Amino acid sequence: MMHILKCEKCGSYGLSNKCSCGGTRHKPKPPKYSHDDKYGDYRRKYKEQMEESRT
Ligand SMILES: [Zn+2]
Repeated sequence: MMHILKCEKCGSYGLSNKCSCGGTRHKPKPPKYSHDDKYGDYRRKYKEQMEESRT
């Protein structure tokens, strides 16, 4: 299994952990699924609705 690494310095991708720019390539972090943010948004909307109905 091949791992594509990303240079932390220039952002280029490659299979070697040494980039030609002199930086080090690492495994790119998977895009974080913002479940918490989505949930927080739901709660914020819910709270807004609650406050709207109250006033
Ligand atoms: Zn680089």
